[in-house]
Amino acid sequence: MNQYDVLIIGAGPAGIFTALELLRKNEGKRIAIVEKGQPVEKRRCPKAKTKECVNCKPYCHITTGFSGAGAFSDGKLSLSYEVGGDFPSLVGEDFAQELINYTDTIYLEFGADTHVEGLGHEKEVKEIRKRAIQAGLKLVDCPIRHLGTEKAQQLYFDIEQFLLKAGVEIYFGYVCQDVIVEDNVCKGAVIETSTGHTDTRTLYARHVVVATGRKGADWLEKLCEQHDIAHQPGTVDIGVRVEVRNEIMEDVNEVLYESKLIGYPMPFKNKVRTFCQNPGGFVSQENYDNDLAVVNGHSYKDLKSKNTNLAILCSHNFTYPFNQPIAYAQKVGELTNMLANGRLLVQRYGDILSGKRTWEKELTFSNVRPTLPDAVAGDITAAMPYRAMLNIINFIQAVDHVVPGFAGNETLLYSPELKFYSNRVKMDQDLNTSIQGLHCLGDSSGWTRGLMMASAMGVLMGRKLADIL
Ligand SMILES: Cc1cc2nc3c(=O)[nH]c(=O)nc-3n(C[C@H](O)[C@H](O)[C@H](O)COP(=O)(O)OP(=O)(O)OC[C@H]3O[C@@H](n4cnc5c(N)ncnc54)[C@H](O)[C@@H]3O)c2cc1C
Repeated sequence: MNQYDVLIIGAGPAGIFTALELLRKNEGKRIAIVEKGQPVEKRRCPKAKTKECVNCKPYCHITTGFSGAGAFSDGKLSLSYEVGGDFPSLVGEDFAQELINYTDTIYLEFGADTHVEGLGHEKEVKEIRKRAIQAGLKLVDCPIRHLGTEKAQQLYFDIEQFLLKAGVEIYFGYVCQDVIVEDNVCKGAVIETSTGHTDTRTLYARHVVVATGRKGADWLEKLCEQHDIAHQPGTVDIGVRVEVRNEIMEDVNEVLYESKLIGYPMPFKNKVRTFCQNPGGFVSQENYDNDLAVVNGHSYKDLKSKNTNLAILCSHNFTYPFNQPIAYAQKVGELTNMLANGRLLVQRYGDILSGKRTWEKELTFSNVRPTLPDAVAGDITAAMPYRAMLNIINFIQAVDHVVPGFAGNETLLYSPELKFYSNRVKMDQDLNTSIQGLHCLGDSSGWTRGLMMASAMGVLMGRKLADIL
């Protein structure tokens, strides 16, 4: 019988922590999870063998499968409510911090490293902060628990096994097509195999939790339109991934591991920030199902490169009459991919300032060798909107005061780095949407943008469901 107490769409951190916490607080409920991708142990990115991204179909293994975008990610758990999304503004900062601390203990129970980066070093942090203030930037304190890409996979495998043993039914290889809404009440969802229309099923549930991640944000936005689920356009982030030699970043890497810097550069005064810093890390390519190739970065616990990469993101808010931020960012990405023959572009910072493209052979002379060798040397300024480009250039110059050498000629900029959090589902503090029995969590809901925040939101959902079921 396809009738459940709770049906979760998406086995990313938000979805799996909902199930975990519900089981901890109220055993014996029938829980099902629908996941487009594979169990964590079967997720394989062929790039390790092919050396270049082969644009896997029907989905990218880096972002799809049990543990979502988390398993193959760097696994940096940001332990401060100030990092990872706007969820604290929904439930309150103190409570969000409490949830993060509690969620962290679950990660520790499943074997996360007990070491926390970014604590201590008060004198050095003070010095870095002083330089940031002088450059007009804010340094956000954020302790980090680093799982590392390879350790994260083991940890999520253990969580997967725990859920299966506890009786959670996981529909791997199934994609949710639609939710069933009747008289403003959500009754379940329609799912089908992600490899085609070979098996379509209808699952019924008292509560449906949609947690489909960044890649599912577009789909959720359409669902909101279709079923009149209250939502509003939010922010879209457009930026670049920057790569420099470890020697340039080593002070910050050693003291903070990740420098969270925020600025509002002239003349637009838009929010520009650093995000997802990977000391000794690797730049990576992520493919969306609509073939959009975007840049990301990660780092292993043991295998280290000679470079550090981090994202610089500019937040874009649009005003009347424009209300399609996701489509806007996609167009920027598509144009960049078009210039790179379907791939990512990489350009030296000095070439951007000199108004010239970067040539492949010029990269071979550099101290900074790209850790993503199949990125195409070219001209990112031909696709990047003027406003975003100027924000990035001015921000890089400000960061150069904090990290001397950051604005070096050889510094590499990869594009497009896009974050689609732009559809925000309206929810109350109990995580109810405008449709009874329907809840939207994690990155697809527009309220989170990181592993820990998505997990903590899942924990709260699990508790709420445990109370009402
Ligand atoms: C390469 C990379 C590195 C990252 N590094 C970090 C980091 O170090 N620290 C950090 O805090 N954050 C990092 N992130 C971001 C982090 O992974 C996400 O913020 C987090 O995973 C969001 O959790 P989520 O549960 O909301 O969504 P996701 O983790 O994206 O999970 C959503 C799941 O839903 C499934 N799904 C989507 N649509 C459907 C559908 N229609 N039907 C069924 N299933 C569906 C997907 O397959 C996916 O498994 C990284 C992301 C990437 C891609």
